Amino acid sequence: MNQASAGHLLRLIRSGQATTRGELQRVTGLSRSTVGHRLDQLFRAGWLRETAGDPVDAPTGGRPSLRLEFDASHAVVLCADLETRHARVAVLDLGGTTLAEHSGALLINQGPDEVLDRLAQWFALLLEKTGLGTDAVCGIGLSVPGPVDRASGRVLQPPLMPGWDRYPVPERMRQAFAAHVSESGADRMPVLVENDANLMAYAEQRRGFPDCAAFLLIKVSTGIGAGVVVDGEMYRGIDGAAGDIGHIRLSDHPYALCRCGSYGCLAAVASGRALAEQLTAAGVPTASGSGVRDQLAIGQPDAVRLAREAGRLVGGVLATVVTLLNPGVLMIAGDLTGPPFLTGVRELLYQRAMPRTTAYLQVVTSRLGDRAGLAGAAAMVVESLYAPEHADRRLADTAAS
Ligand SMILES: [Zn+2]
Repeated sequence: MNQASAGHLLRLIRSGQATTRGELQRVTGLSRSTVGHRLDQLFRAGWLRETAGDPVDAPTGGRPSLRLEFDASHAVVLCADLETRHARVAVLDLGGTTLAEHSGALLINQGPDEVLDRLAQWFALLLEKTGLGTDAVCGIGLSVPGPVDRASGRVLQPPLMPGWDRYPVPERMRQAFAAHVSESGADRMPVLVENDANLMAYAEQRRGFPDCAAFLLIKVSTGIGAGVVVDGEMYRGIDGAAGDIGHIRLSDHPYALCRCGSYGCLAAVASGRALAEQLTAAGVPTASGSGVRDQLAIGQPDAVRLAREAGRLVGGVLATVVTLLNPGVLMIAGDLTGPPFLTGVRELLYQRAMPRTTAYLQVVTSRLGDRAGLAGAAAMVVESLYAPEHADRRLADTAAS
C-alpha cells in the first residue's frame, strides 16, 4: 500500500531512475495528482528542487520538462573520523561536499567521555565557522577503528580502543553535542557509528567504482582492517565483525604479541604499529604508523624493506580473502600505501590465489586518501536518513510538529 510513498519517489529521483513528473507516473503507476501531492511533501520539507530540463529532452521543440533533483544543500552532516592518535572532523553537505574541516591530535585511549566531548566541541566550532545553526544539521556520522554493532552503535571489544567496549557512543555523542550548542533539538540528533574500513570502502566504491559489485578495501594503519561493499551495500556480517583480518593468526610468528592479547596476529607483524616497533628496533626511532608513512615518503631503506615484507604477509592472507569474495577491485589504503607495500601484496597474492580468481582483479590504491572516512560517514548518514521508510517517518514528524 505504501509502495510509492514520498520517500519512494525520493529514492527514484536520487538514483536517477525517474527525474520528471512524467517519469515518476510511468515508473510508479500513480496518477498525476498523487505524484504531485507526494512531491509537494518533499518540496515543503525543502528536500527537492525543480530545474528546467536540458533542451535535448524536448527535441520536437516543445516545452522542456522540468527536472526534479535532490537538494543536497538543504541540510548538513557532521562527521568525525577517529584514528588512534588523531581525529578529523568536517561539516559536509548532503552531496558529500566539505564545507569546513578541522583535524587535530586526539588520543583514542583517553576513553569515550573525553574523546566524544572534544569532538562535540570541534563540531560546534566548525558550525560557527560555516554560519550554520544546529537546525541545519540532520545527523552525525562517526568512523571508528574498531568493530561496531550496527543496531546499537556500540563498539565491540576493540583492541585499539581501550575503554570503549560496549560504551553507548551515540547517546553520549548526542549529549556532548547538546552541551556545546545552545539550540534545542540537539539532544535528539541521529548519530550513526561505523567501522573505519567499512566506511572507506563505501566511499571509495561509490565515488570511483560505482559499477563494481564486489569491492574490497584493506586499510593498513595502526591496525589492519578490511571493508567489503557488495552490490553497493556495506557487508558487515552478523554483528559487525566482518573484515577484521588483522587478527587472523599466522603460524610462523608465534612470539609476536598483538594488542588483542593473542600471539601471531597479522596486525602484530604487518601493521603500521608493528612496523614502527621494528623500525625503532632497527635504529630508526618511529612512534606510530604515521611515522612509518613519513619514513616511506623519504625512501628510508629499512622502512621500504619492512613495508614490502609486510605487504607479502598481508598478501598471503588476502589470497584467501580474494578467493572467497572474488572482488573486482582490491584497494589498498592507510599509512603503508605505496609501491613497496603494494609490490609485496601483489607478489604473494598472485602466487597464492588461483589465476581464475585474480584474472579481472584490479589492485589499486586509495583515491580519496585521508578524506575517505569522512566521505563514507557522510554518505552513511544521508543514505540512512533519506531511505524511503526513514524519510517518510521524518516527513510525518515534520508535518505533525
Ligand atoms: Zn590480534
